[in-house]
Order: sequence, then structure tokens, then C-alpha cells
Amino acid sequence: MLVDEKLAGTLAESGLTGISFRGVFAAFEKRGHIQLPWRQICAAHTMPPLSPRSTGIEPSELCACGRSGFDTPSEVPLRLVYRASDLADIRDVNVTWEWFGDARFDGDVSDALFPYPWFLVTPKVWRIFHDAGVTGFDWMPIRVVDE
Ligand SMILES: [Zn+2]
Repeated sequence: MLVDEKLAGTLAESGLTGISFRGVFAAFEKRGHIQLPWRQICAAHTMPPLSPRSTGIEPSELCACGRSGFDTPSEVPLRLVYRASDLADIRDVNVTWEWFGDARFDGDVSDALFPYPWFLVTPKVWRIFHDAGVTGFDWMPIRVVDE
């Protein structure tokens, strides 16, 4: 996830746990690399796999490791469910164990597609994005079950 420098600064000053930032560069064959005024958000903590009570998430072309290749067919309502014990060790910024989206790579990164995990954040992080006027995300509450 990429944010502009202003929002990155606000996030960095907010005492959030589990978040770090990396620089973002445009790469050109002849002109080298140019740093862009953005930061990539990285999460230190990966959640355990979703509870099987989750709905709307299906393995489509799972890779050998079983993590990458999940799909969200729109016919089924999307519901992310975790066990209460899964939340014991969370930080303000976390990512899912599951990786979503298609994979396509034939040796050329310029037209490659890579699966990615979803970010799971606490209401504190949601509030910072909300107060900054960011509207480009679909926010979805998770559900917690007691097993
Ligand atoms: Zn894999």
C-alpha cells in the first residue's frame, strides 16, 4: 500500500505498532532510479489463516505453499472471520496470511501481476486515514468468533 509523504508522516508520528515504511522509486533503463514522493507501508505482523467460518473467499489457483491464489467471487457475501485467540498478538497494522489476486510473471516485471495480502488495521489507523480524507479504500469490519 502506497501513501503520500504527508500521510506517511502522520502515521509515523502516531505511535502505531507493527508499521514501517519503505521508499518508492520509478525505475528507468537509461536514467536509473528516481525516488517518488510516496512511501510504501509494510506490516510486521502476519495474521494466522482465516477461520473456516469466513465466507466469500475461495482458493482459485493456489500455489504450492497454499497461501497465494485466493479469490473473492462476488456471488457470496465477503465475510472475514477470525478466532478471538487470533487477535491476542495483533499490532495496529497487520496483513492477512492469505494472498489475493492473479499471478502472472514471464520474466518481465513491467507487465507482471503479483498476489498480495490484505491489510488489517485497528480503528486507530482507520481514524487517521478517515481524518486525512482518504476515500480510495474499501473498509470492511472483521468478525470474531469464540473458538
Ligand atoms: Zn506460494
